[in-house]
Amino acid sequence: MEVQPKTFADRDALIAHVRALSPSLSPEETFVSDTKGGRDAGQALLQNIDPIAYGRSRDYLGGAVSYLSPYIRHGLITLNEARNLALERGPEDGDAKPIEKFIQELAWRDFWQRVYQQNPDWIWHDIEDYKTGFTAEDYADTLPDDIRQAQTDCAAINYFITSLQTTGYLHNHARMYLAAYIVHWRRVKWQAGARFFLAHLLDGDPASNNLSFQWVASTFSNKPYFFNLENLQKYAHPQAPCDAASNQPLSGSYEALAEKLFPYGEPA
Ligand SMILES: Cc1cc2nc3c(=O)[nH]c(=O)nc-3n(C[C@H](O)[C@H](O)[C@H](O)COP(=O)(O)OP(=O)(O)OC[C@H]3O[C@@H](n4cnc5c(N)ncnc54)[C@H](O)[C@@H]3O)c2cc1C
Repeated sequence: MEVQPKTFADRDALIAHVRALSPSLSPEETFVSDTKGGRDAGQALLQNIDPIAYGRSRDYLGGAVSYLSPYIRHGLITLNEARNLALERGPEDGDAKPIEKFIQELAWRDFWQRVYQQNPDWIWHDIEDYKTGFTAEDYADTLPDDIRQAQTDCAAINYFITSLQTTGYLHNHARMYLAAYIVHWRRVKWQAGARFFLAHLLDGDPASNNLSFQWVASTFSNKPYFFNLENLQKYAHPQAPCDAASNQPLSGSYEALAEKLFPYGEPA
């Protein structure tokens, strides 16, 4: 087996080397994310966190999120470091309420890791049945090509797919939207969606990713997660194209969409 070099003159040399390993891939397939590796890059982002603004804006695509996940995932920044800095950045009177949301999200990461440690077989198997009125056999095993190629019937979904493939990152809400579209609008098994995410995410993590997918799917929650255009427009505009005309399948009230997506009934 050929021994690969481990050190490079600079980032460009590393990129050129990796591209040369797969000469048949198109430029789109070897797109390089702007995210820089290493502890220094992670530290710089960590120093930028604003946990109070995070608490107010986290659900918005343009919110004050940290972009720390690849560094946390690969062990360059620890959850403790992030929590301790958040505590320092909290209100001077010591009230932890405004920074609670940030710390809760760090805790979610820890929680998923512990669930994984104790139940390794939950990562690829349905933990429970779907609560969508369908059985697992009703869901396709593989991801349709139009999803892989960002050519679906929803402009916002195409935008999320392209972002995932070119940056290796998606905002949490965008992950929820895309996962829900794959599983509930297209009735594809969550495992196929999870594999697709893991192939592209720089923070790709079997515990956070697959257990979140199971939560969206309803195999690890009481009901399926889905959304409508109004919700998308509230949280994803102006980053994603959210107009009604190019996102028709997402239009409608929650009641109308539930009838369409789960015609055999969605348990309360
Ligand atoms: C379908 C789906 C797939 C996901 N796949 C992954 C994955 O592969 N790897 C991964 O690290 N996270 C995953 N998440 C969780 C979350 O979306 C990302 O951690 C977060 O969006 C990363 O962006 P950030 O660093 O800017 O997060 P911030 O919002 O700034 O949060 C700070 C840190 O808290 C942790 N965190 C935040 N939200 C969550 C959450 N909901 N669950 C667990 N940890 C969280 C992360 O370590 C994150 O870096 C997934 C969520 C969903 C819904």
